[in-house]
Amino acid sequence: MHATDGKLLPEGSARAQPQRAAPMRDPGIGSSLVSAALALATGAESEAALFAAVCRLACGQGKCTFAAVAVLDPLRAELHLAAHCGPAGASDAAIATTSGVAAASTGFVMGALQAGAPQQWTAAGGSQAPWPLSKVPADVASLGAWPLHADGELSAVLLLGTAADALAASDAGAWPDLASVLGLAFGRLRAQAAHAATEHMQSLRTLQLRAALSMPHIGVLVLSAQNTVRFVNAAFCAQFHLHDTPDSLEGLTVRELRDRLPEGCAPAEHEWQRIARTLAACSAVTGDEVRMRDGRVFLRDFTPICIDGADQGSLWQWRDITAQKLHEKRIEQLAFFDEVSGLPNRRRLFELLEAAHTTAAAQQDVLAVGVLDLDRFKNVNDTVGRDGGDRVLTETAARILGILRPDDMLARFGGDEFALVIFGLDSKEQLDAISRCILQALRAPYFVAGEQLQLSASVGWTLFPRDDGDAEGLVRHAELALFSAKEEGRDCGVLYEPSMEAEQLRLRAMRERIARALETSRLQLLFQPIVYIDGLPGRNGVAGMEALLRLDDTGKDLVEPAKFMHVLDDPQLARPIGRFVLDAALRQCHAWMLAGVSIPVSVNISTRHLLHPAFFGDIESVLESYPDVMEVGFGIEITETGPSMDHTRAKAVIEECRRRGIRVGLDDFGTGSASLSHIQQLDIEHIKLDQSFVSDILFDDRNMAIAAGVITTARMLARTVIAEGVETSAQGDLLASLGCHQLQGYSISRPMPSAAVPGWVTRWKPPASWAHLVEERHALLAEHDEAGDDPPVPG
Ligand code: C2E
Ligand code: MG
Ligand code: MG
Repeated sequence: MHATDGKLLPEGSARAQPQRAAPMRDPGIGSSLVSAALALATGAESEAALFAAVCRLACGQGKCTFAAVAVLDPLRAELHLAAHCGPAGASDAAIATTSGVAAASTGFVMGALQAGAPQQWTAAGGSQAPWPLSKVPADVASLGAWPLHADGELSAVLLLGTAADALAASDAGAWPDLASVLGLAFGRLRAQAAHAATEHMQSLRTLQLRAALSMPHIGVLVLSAQNTVRFVNAAFCAQFHLHDTPDSLEGLTVRELRDRLPEGCAPAEHEWQRIARTLAACSAVTGDEVRMRDGRVFLRDFTPICIDGADQGSLWQWRDITAQKLHEKRIEQLAFFDEVSGLPNRRRLFELLEAAHTTAAAQQDVLAVGVLDLDRFKNVNDTVGRDGGDRVLTETAARILGILRPDDMLARFGGDEFALVIFGLDSKEQLDAISRCILQALRAPYFVAGEQLQLSASVGWTLFPRDDGDAEGLVRHAELALFSAKEEGRDCGVLYEPSMEAEQLRLRAMRERIARALETSRLQLLFQPIVYIDGLPGRNGVAGMEALLRLDDTGKDLVEPAKFMHVLDDPQLARPIGRFVLDAALRQCHAWMLAGVSIPVSVNISTRHLLHPAFFGDIESVLESYPDVMEVGFGIEITETGPSMDHTRAKAVIEECRRRGIRVGLDDFGTGSASLSHIQQLDIEHIKLDQSFVSDILFDDRNMAIAAGVITTARMLARTVIAEGVETSAQGDLLASLGCHQLQGYSISRPMPSAAVPGWVTRWKPPASWAHLVEERHALLAEHDEAGDDPPVPG
């Protein structure tokens, strides 16, 4: 008899082997009991069923008062009642361990576990009952506990209680056998359960793996070592537009799988060769970009599956990156291409040009780089709006591309500026011809937003290797040449010359000089008289004084505007210069009045200042200072480019000037684009025939005819004509006979300082010939009027 002390299992006891309690002496009841137990054991499908059936057998056929099976929870080292037969609660205390029953009285069953051997107690021995038997029927005279093993571990206990030492008497030998049978069946069931659990876990893992491989955006194909399909996921089927279910593809060879792919969405032929090579090489490949026949792009990873050094097949993963590629392309498009024209932008042009430059240098090729700018493009935007302007730019790009060869390059630099790169030129003449063709193509009318637009462009070129600059240098030189083309009157192409760089520096330096002169009062005005040919009483024959700007920063000669013409229309300086001139001119006019000479003054206004929103503010502020000037007469001269730059706005500004009583004249007529019909629409008082027509009017019939035509038409339109640059009295006489109203030029007076003006005005006497010529002309006109002839033109 083993002592029980109520402790939980001591270490090492768990693996004790079951011991048979005693041999069965009477084979009668005992053997039938064991046979029945064997039948139960072989048929039992679960532990619970087995334990319940054995307990029922023990109490039934075995006549036990109660029977129970307790199972050990190895994690918590607790016993749990798994089956019981007999009066309720009879076995509870016997198996309780931690449920509050006194340790000394709970140790009977635990004792069997701790010892790993059966325990028995009989009342006949006179020993105390191993636990309070208050709930146990009084006739229980003997108890037995048999440990049961599963997989070599002590896992359960069979507890039997019998009356009057039934266990020890006739059938006592059957109980150990019953316990053995139960133990074996229990072990078998546990092993089966463990196996089932393992299998379950295995299939669970497979399911989990399949679930993991079934992500919706990555197509997965698992091939066996023999390259047959082991697994594909739904994403793979969707990616390749397969109508088969993933399961139905399993077992196919790669070739069979390939044959099922619809033609349009399969990889291209060379991709199949790549796949074959990848399979043969059998080493991991990540990030292969694959282009499908339908234009989609896939990213493909290939991973060989190798377990314990053995080839177990391969895993292919396909990700559709078409959208990502499109996005990247869009980003690239934005970064490197112009949205309006679709042409490469400035950044891209430099990349391409650098490559072209390297190639040309290596192959000793000639490379032309051009920068082209549409003349007065702002006017286009003002007329047809921004969208219309964009359409003009797109069409300009198309026209230029129509002339270039496919290998040449055209880029949009921004605004209305384009860059051109032309390869493999034979000569400068060839470039001239291309340049002319491009300019000619751009002169053809544009039809946009219901308007017909007539445009022109200027282009600057440079030729590598004659110009051996780098990409940036070549573009800068082409821009300098463009600047020259603009200076030369636009609508032309100019080839870069090294002197242009020096000229550019000079222009920049001059701009600085003028800016400084404005601050240090080193600008001043000279005044040049404009006189009447036919005289006007009371004004001494002087129509007015034109204020002409000079730079006076050398302490020696005055610098004339020809040297700083570009600064007069400078975005930053045009208005400050204009304000200075307005103030100085009106101040002088006011001073002459105070000196007793009332003489109208006119000032030249740059187009930029004229169209500046603050122009009338500037006029008002100067007239506030010298209001009496308006009584004498104050006028402005604008150049022909003015109205043609922004016709509508210029027209409005001119009208507002006239409304305020300011005379407006159109300067340098004949050099720009303004026509006489155009002048008809403008509220201008006079036009100034440009001196280029006057200078050789005596010897150039064409210029003479133009001058005569302008004078006659202007007279018909009731506009005054002033001829400027009259250097000789003969020129003056001819203009007088043509009917010109007023003259200005060196033959009358050179520009003079303001202080000299009152004296000059007082002394001025028109040449006697003019009055004579005017009279003659009037007489001739009268004669021809009577005869109904055209007005006469002197030969
Ligand atoms: P413009 O308004 O046509 O002025 C007439 C120019 O012709 C003046 O040149 C004048 O000195 C010159 N000139 C006058 N008579 C003769 C002549 O008989 N023979 C020759 N060869 N030339 C003659 P200037 O003063 O050098 O001015 C040149 C241009 O500069 C002006 O042409 C005008 O467009 C511009 N300019 C002058 N002053 C100003 C100014 O204050 N503001 C602005 N924005 N431009 C000005
Ligand atoms: Mg002028
Ligand atoms: Mg002029």
